Amino acid sequence: MKIRPVQEAGGAWKCPLCSFRAMSKKVVEQHIADEHKESVKKLKELKEKKKEAKKKKKKVGNFVEGDFLSRICSTHSKVKVKMLTGEEFIGTIEDYTIFMLTLKRNGDGKPVYIYKQGIAYIEPAD
Ligand SMILES: [Zn+2]
Repeated sequence: MKIRPVQEAGGAWKCPLCSFRAMSKKVVEQHIADEHKESVKKLKELKEKKKEAKKKKKKVGNFVEGDFLSRICSTHSKVKVKMLTGEEFIGTIEDYTIFMLTLKRNGDGKPVYIYKQGIAYIEPAD
């Protein structure tokens, strides 16, 4: 980002940071580059920081539930599904929809259909 000269009604160019004026835009640009180096630098730094923050935010928001579920489903990883009620189911996730999971229970191999809204968390159980 650049600090740009501002054009006045009369056609003259003005520095937005001080009262410097000139008839030529180039002259004001040069003035900004010479006299307001620090401001230009600070602005650049600020912009980079904002960019960085945006990137970080994006990364955090990149978690896709389907990716996670499809991974533990396709690898048949043993997981523990902890319900909000405190119940636990240990087994492998065989299938899922946006609302439900099908868990093949460890031991008897019986399927348990779990409503996702009741899940507190899922953790690896190996
Ligand atoms: Zn100035």
